[in-house]
Amino acid sequence: MNKEQTMKIFKDSGALTEGHFLLTSGRHSSKYIQCAKVFQYPQYAQQLTKELALYFKDNEVDIVIGPAIGGIILAYEMARCLDAKSIFSEREDGVMQLRRGFSIPKGSRVLVVEDVVTTGGSVREVIELVSRLEGDIVGVGSLVDRSNGKIDFGVKFHSLLTLNIESYDADSCPLCKQNIPIIKPGSKKL
Ligand code: ZN
Repeated sequence: MNKEQTMKIFKDSGALTEGHFLLTSGRHSSKYIQCAKVFQYPQYAQQLTKELALYFKDNEVDIVIGPAIGGIILAYEMARCLDAKSIFSEREDGVMQLRRGFSIPKGSRVLVVEDVVTTGGSVREVIELVSRLEGDIVGVGSLVDRSNGKIDFGVKFHSLLTLNIESYDADSCPLCKQNIPIIKPGSKKL
């Protein structure tokens, strides 16, 4: 699957939209990504994870772990492709941890996955968690890397799609200058 085919899945599922968006940060952007929309369609999820799994097929992965919520379905589908176990981590009192009786036996070969990586904060928390439990991290996989390839986790990292989503100050937004109506994603039009 090439980048165009991957892009098409993101667009067809509505996960990647183009327009004029007001981000949570207050900045404006011409693109918006909501990865959960891809996972509405198991067929798409399967196609994407199959492709991502190719990059880790020789890593003898025992466990795939993703941070809740974004990493749960991806971890599950990746584990299916890699014939591994699937678990997820959650923050409790601000600390990333394993709940629900999940465990990582010492020395397990662990792949960390996340749907969208922006600053890589959650992934780093999962890496720390796995390291604390003395798991052996084989790599990090994500569907989308929004950092435009700037992130370095110190381990093998592969993302299906690398995006550079530009954002603008409200004062200098070229879309505002064209009088394009602005939309706050996930809510009604402003
Ligand atoms: Zn604007």
